[in-house]
Amino acid sequence: MNAPEIAIVGAGVAGLAAASFLARRGARVILLEALPRAGGRAFTDHPAALGGAPFDHGASWLHSAERNPLARLGRWRGEALIDTARARQRLVIIAGRPATEAELAARDAADAALEAALVARAGRPGADPSFAAALDDLPPNPWHANSEAIEATLIAAADPARLSLADWRANRLEGTNLLPPEGLGAYVLRLLAPPAGVLAAATAVSRIDWGGGGVTLETPRGTVAAKAAIVTVSTGVLAAGHITFTPALPVTTASAIAALPMGLLSKVALRAEGAERLDLPPGCFVERRLDARGEPFMAFNAWPRGRDHVVGFIGGGAAWALARAGVKAAEDFARAELARLFGTRAARAFAPGAVATTWGSDATFLGAYAYPLPGAAAARLALATPLAGGRLAFAGEACHPTLAGTVAGAVISGRAVARAAWHAVGCS
Ligand SMILES: Cc1cc2nc3c(=O)[nH]c(=O)nc-3n(C[C@H](O)[C@H](O)[C@H](O)COP(=O)(O)OP(=O)(O)OC[C@H]3O[C@@H](n4cnc5c(N)ncnc54)[C@H](O)[C@@H]3O)c2cc1C
Repeated sequence: MNAPEIAIVGAGVAGLAAASFLARRGARVILLEALPRAGGRAFTDHPAALGGAPFDHGASWLHSAERNPLARLGRWRGEALIDTARARQRLVIIAGRPATEAELAARDAADAALEAALVARAGRPGADPSFAAALDDLPPNPWHANSEAIEATLIAAADPARLSLADWRANRLEGTNLLPPEGLGAYVLRLLAPPAGVLAAATAVSRIDWGGGGVTLETPRGTVAAKAAIVTVSTGVLAAGHITFTPALPVTTASAIAALPMGLLSKVALRAEGAERLDLPPGCFVERRLDARGEPFMAFNAWPRGRDHVVGFIGGGAAWALARAGVKAAEDFARAELARLFGTRAARAFAPGAVATTWGSDATFLGAYAYPLPGAAAARLALATPLAGGRLAFAGEACHPTLAGTVAGAVISGRAVARAAWHAVGCS
């Protein structure tokens, strides 16, 4: 290929979306990716421990399908997509028994009241408190621990005391959730496959010089010169300094990165080996009533896509603690949580071995997705503001103000920055 006009760092969803946008317009693009594979945090695997069934280590649902470009594109291409609302069931366990209808109604009412109160609080002018601080101000309710654990700790992957309430409000997931039957990572690679010759895999960028008229990027395979660079790595990778910038990034960008730490959501999957299915229908979500706010816990999705495994989700500080303790500790935690839910039936149901995700300890990600600290909700747009007339720009899930932490946000951000870079380098 001739010298690229635009170098994209990272072949996750944002990088792939930017590359296909630019390549379709005839721009010369190179996609520099640290790993031997593309897809980033959208990654479908077929582990032997799950009998070869598809398992998404990262993203699995197409959230907010109504405004998700990957849902639109998939439907247009005739891709099969499972609408999870139709199949959605849930089980709430209280002290080893299923919640009654009245208890479920109380949980739903508490959830709705909490959401309305927090949305109203977030809309008030003045300081942006943390999710936890805003919850402290509400009259106590025994279900608040569950609502907080699911809304902040699992969905936002953040500790509630460190999560901006304004950002939680802006990024609440609404609308339809769709599930690609063979895995979202595989789906992303089908829909956003980079054009031939564009992807340079196993090519980590260690330094970007953006001081002259163009940019140069250092990799172990040599230096790449281009007119502009789009950087899509996680804020965890940026904050760790795995890529150095010359000249140093301006204060607004550096402060935005510091204000957008990575949260952690981890998954542990276990396969059922006999006929025991714990009376759970496929796709069912299971949670237990928590005794106190902040209690470590795992929620489960049973038999996703009709497969023989359950997937446990754990987020926030408890997930970071397990990431430090290692994969076996995560498996043990999942088995202990299943035993709390289903007693000895759980021990009989699952085969030895498990699959546990490692986003927190993996140096190419250093977390699941970014969340802003209280008062820092504007950091997402600050990070997304291109530098040097578009010669250097950042994109990815962290940069989207209302679909952050999702593949939809990453696609939209990648395309928007690609459009700006395309104009900046005069390709139009
Ligand atoms: C457990 C988990 C569950 C999730 N569930 C969902 C879900 O159900 N639905 C949803 O929409 N979203 C979900 N997400 C979030 C979603 O996966 C991300 O928002 C999205 O994939 C991020 O894409 P990105 O392109 O911004 O970043 P990334 O995917 O991180 O892409 C950045 C790329 O840069 C590469 N890279 C890193 N360092 C370098 C370097 N120095 N040089 C070159 N390349 C480098 C990385 O390898 C990576 O490929 C989940 C995430 C996790 C972790």
